[in-house]
Amino acid sequence: MDERLYYEDAYLTRFSAQVMERLTHEEQPAVRLSRSAFYPTSGGQPHDTGGLDGTAVVDVQVGADGAVLHLLTEPLPDGTESVRGEIDWTRRYDHMQQHSGQHLLSQVFYRRLGLETVSVHFGDALNTVDLNGPPLSAAQLADVETAANGMVWKNRPIRAYWVDEEERAKVPLRRAPAVAGATRIVEIDKFDWSACGGTHVRRTGEIGLISLVRVEKHRGRSRVHFVCGGRALADAARRRGLLAETAGLLDGGVDDVPELVSKQQKALKGAERELKALREELVGYQARELLAAAEIVGNLRLVAEALNDSEPAAVQRLARALIAEPGVVALLGCAQRGKGTVVFARSEDCSTHVGSLLRDTLKQFGGGGGGRPDFAQGGGVAAERLEAVLDTAAEAVRREVSS
Ligand SMILES: [Zn+2]
Repeated sequence: MDERLYYEDAYLTRFSAQVMERLTHEEQPAVRLSRSAFYPTSGGQPHDTGGLDGTAVVDVQVGADGAVLHLLTEPLPDGTESVRGEIDWTRRYDHMQQHSGQHLLSQVFYRRLGLETVSVHFGDALNTVDLNGPPLSAAQLADVETAANGMVWKNRPIRAYWVDEEERAKVPLRRAPAVAGATRIVEIDKFDWSACGGTHVRRTGEIGLISLVRVEKHRGRSRVHFVCGGRALADAARRRGLLAETAGLLDGGVDDVPELVSKQQKALKGAERELKALREELVGYQARELLAAAEIVGNLRLVAEALNDSEPAAVQRLARALIAEPGVVALLGCAQRGKGTVVFARSEDCSTHVGSLLRDTLKQFGGGGGGRPDFAQGGGVAAERLEAVLDTAAEAVRREVSS
């Protein structure tokens, strides 16, 4: 098998190697090397990126035969026998911090709460551990976060070493490994023992910070989202920025944000109540005005009116206010974004079936709708034909009354 240099030294960023094979993998040029410091995606840890003699390595995978495949943006020049490789250290170190932090965190969850880590995911932004227990409380989460960071500050050494099966039986592994034979143990000094092929920092202090961002229920278990190291710092800075921006919008300090938001919510609710009362008052005025100018048809007051700047909900409110009076047939419409909406309604003491009237009228204009005998709504007509719709319906009411 190709020599994996990161097993011995996770801090090695430059190396030279012989080109063993040039191939195409997943339709991309790829190479296999005699040895490599590039970490391939495995064990939940994402791959490294970097370059081989300046050609970008964009992905690193373990091939079917166990070889490390370096996927390139373009093939290496013909005849290349050896290369100098360089990995992107910023990306690698970030992965080392997240990965080492996860080992530590999983052990703290086990020791403090007896919860085992059943799966781990390292994401581009947040990482997660799934725990085999009921959902965690905020207090439990805070307790684990404090304990985990306490272990970070103790700055314990982190070592990797290989053991055979016999020796492995004596190691207090947090999780039994899936494969038999020689096993690589990653030990946080006298605290956590994991079977792991990943890359880790040398001491817990380099994890920097472990921040538990949130917990959610996932398939009856707890899924804890966390970030470590530089990523935790960046996340804290981002949140600080959001909070400062919010405080600025509220014209206050960051510590006052909850109180200011609560005050604004109360003020908004009061304003909404007032708006509702004013709308009802306005509808009353509109209704009285329209009724005063209504056409008298037999013993009916007929109101046919297009209210072009109104919302359908406002038209409905007005229709209800109109038919609260006896002997009223209201044929109302409004237009929004080129589309007409109509609302037909009549008082309880009238006999006109406005549901049928609306359906029959709109059919002539390519629209549709319907409703009860006393209240109906429809649409689907062009805004410029709204007046014609209302005129047609009004004419039908006049005919019905005179017949
Ligand atoms: Zn590991």
